[in-house]
Amino acid sequence: MKLYNTLSRKVEEFKPINTERVKIYTCGPTVYSFAHIGNFTSYIYWDLLVRALQQNGMKVDRVLNITDVGHLASDADEGEDKMEKGAKREGKTVWEIAEMYMGDYLENYRELNLVEPTSICRATDFIKEDIALVDALEEKGYLYDTTDGLYFDTSKFASYADFARLDLDHLKAGARVDFNSEKKNVSDFAVWKWIRDGEDHAMQWEYRGRMGYPGWHLECATIIHEKLGEPIDIHCGGVDHIPVHHTNEIAEIEAAYGHKMANYWLHNNFITIEGEKISKSLGNVYDFKDLAERGYSHMDYKMWVLQGHFQSERNFAFNDLKAAQQRLLNYRNFAALRWQKDTTDLSGAKTAIMEQLNNNLNSAGAFAELDKILHENVPDEDFVEFLDSIFGLKIAETTPDISDALKRKIAERIEAKNAKDYAKADTLRNEILDEGIVLLDSADGTIWQYAK
Ligand code: AMP
Ligand code: ZN
Repeated sequence: MKLYNTLSRKVEEFKPINTERVKIYTCGPTVYSFAHIGNFTSYIYWDLLVRALQQNGMKVDRVLNITDVGHLASDADEGEDKMEKGAKREGKTVWEIAEMYMGDYLENYRELNLVEPTSICRATDFIKEDIALVDALEEKGYLYDTTDGLYFDTSKFASYADFARLDLDHLKAGARVDFNSEKKNVSDFAVWKWIRDGEDHAMQWEYRGRMGYPGWHLECATIIHEKLGEPIDIHCGGVDHIPVHHTNEIAEIEAAYGHKMANYWLHNNFITIEGEKISKSLGNVYDFKDLAERGYSHMDYKMWVLQGHFQSERNFAFNDLKAAQQRLLNYRNFAALRWQKDTTDLSGAKTAIMEQLNNNLNSAGAFAELDKILHENVPDEDFVEFLDSIFGLKIAETTPDISDALKRKIAERIEAKNAKDYAKADTLRNEILDEGIVLLDSADGTIWQYAK
């Protein structure tokens, strides 16, 4: 299987450390508000990755984190903690906010039929372990104290700029004047934040006799170290994570423990909506409830996402979502043929589809292979299950065989048509349509399909 590795900026052959336990980590959501559909593209693409690895016979051990503390409004360790902000906005405690939005996130995760990670870890459950990592960094001399918190001195970590190909001189020149004046280098980041006098921050823990909380990047480094052990095989996240979050995760782990963090890094690109950035002011922050109101399901959206490539910037438009919904319906109707006609041997198509997925998760290519066989063939149960196991679009599950009563009615309508009783045939056809089933007549007989 070939994957584009951000580390080398190349498509490489994927070589897992151990095929019986392919270790994957995905940066999860910050649970301070409802997630929008853009946030979920990442989880949909990484689900495809997990399913493809499994189809290739590998066992996956995947950890997903839930950020419920320490993620500040700006990636530069400035601004309010997103969780605190959410709590104030809604007059609730941070813990209540975390529960509520984590619940919502997981509900959507399940509705999208994404493979459950082996573990889902909340940042606040790893504070003791975070502190052990801070101590390890301190011991090795990477940290310095400021009024604001303990900072990582990036000038001491020689390979700091490598992962994101950062131009640190350029960064310095472009730095904002009001950046923390106690910082030694523009790229230095907070590993641990101190609660300052008068600061209102509900989540806080004692460390070195003072109250504070972890910096954002710490949780991912800690959870990887505790739950998987570095190096892991694949670390996934959004492209926005490359220059700051992932760069800092790498610095923390590699400086503290001297091990490489991950062998492969996969990053998904962003979506725009009708050509615009997703933003509150444009009123295009759609979530799944908004899609449902317009008649689209989680699976329709997933179909739309999977039609594209994880590395491509994509533009979401409702017209295209409609086309994706229709495409998914075509696949369901293809699957429904297995109850109506003699099945065809599709092992060649299976191989062709897997070749596409093994080529850097080319799902668009995989669907193109499926489209090639759609009209002349009839899948068997095994092929439909194969489609569901790689795409997770619930094709088998959403194509229930129709009732015997409906089948009798279809037979009756065929009889009426053959007897040239067109009035009766039309009445029956309309009654059948009222039950959501369309009849298609052709030279070799009549088949039924789902109308929607
Ligand atoms: P946010 O809550 O805005 O920080 O978003 C959380 C994560 O969702 C980001 O780090 C991105 O990786 C991802 N994300 C946000 N907006 C988009 C988008 N328009 N398309 C794809 N991913 C996005
Ligand atoms: Zn992370």
